[in-house]
Amino acid sequence: MEGVGIVVSALLGIAVGSFLNVCIDRLPTGESLVFPASHCASCHHRLAIKDIIPVFSYLWLRGRCRHCQTPIPRRLLWVEIGTGILFGYLFWHYGLSAELAVAAVYCCLFLILMVIDLEHGLILNKVVYPSMAVALIISIFLPPSKVVYPDGAVALLLSSLPEPGIAQAAIGGGIGLFLFLLIVIISRGGIGWGDVKMAALIGIVTGYLVFVALFLAVILGGLVAVVLLLFKLRKRKEGIPFAPYLSLGAMITLLFGKSILNWYLGLF
Ligand SMILES: [Zn+2]
Repeated sequence: MEGVGIVVSALLGIAVGSFLNVCIDRLPTGESLVFPASHCASCHHRLAIKDIIPVFSYLWLRGRCRHCQTPIPRRLLWVEIGTGILFGYLFWHYGLSAELAVAAVYCCLFLILMVIDLEHGLILNKVVYPSMAVALIISIFLPPSKVVYPDGAVALLLSSLPEPGIAQAAIGGGIGLFLFLLIVIISRGGIGWGDVKMAALIGIVTGYLVFVALFLAVILGGLVAVVLLLFKLRKRKEGIPFAPYLSLGAMITLLFGKSILNWYLGLF
């Protein structure tokens, strides 16, 4: 039974990934998500159903437009496959539950933010602000984290913080905003305002686990930056899009944040 659920969830994920691609293509240019219907970005030929079947059409057409032979961006395929794998995993992790639906929504939002920043170096307000509103509403019904903290002084501190969802979301958002404002001031332009807003969003989504999410993002981003510099793939002056790491940190925290926090506090 669980196997069927995972497969159905993965197939749904592939279809959702196809819609995420539309969002990623059109949100930065201000096009409507609905009109016009799917068309080739190069020859503007309107695409038939057989051209827009997720994954399958790309492979069948060998990654080229049927009409003008222009290569279709490979990202379309990766986002569809990636969302499929992610949704399959989410079902396995949560089972059929409200948590599953909420985690799926958040993962979609973070995937959109991640890929748009990778391709355009932009974190769009029209994605971040509505996401904040959605996350605040969700937090009323489903607290960001019902954390059972381990023993110790940190646990005492954390357990004295307000428990209800919306309070946790608001405080988490405030912490994310404050931490990244500090980083903006210290780094003098290494981090942009979009990153600050996104850190606040992640705080609303993860509540008190915001520390774990932002810590992971900084570690991941730092590691990649070091590797890029070592291999001279990027000059020191160029900014590095940070939304991909923020997104990864947030998604890992949604799934494993409590375990990571407990492990980390257990070190002391
Ligand atoms: Zn074409």
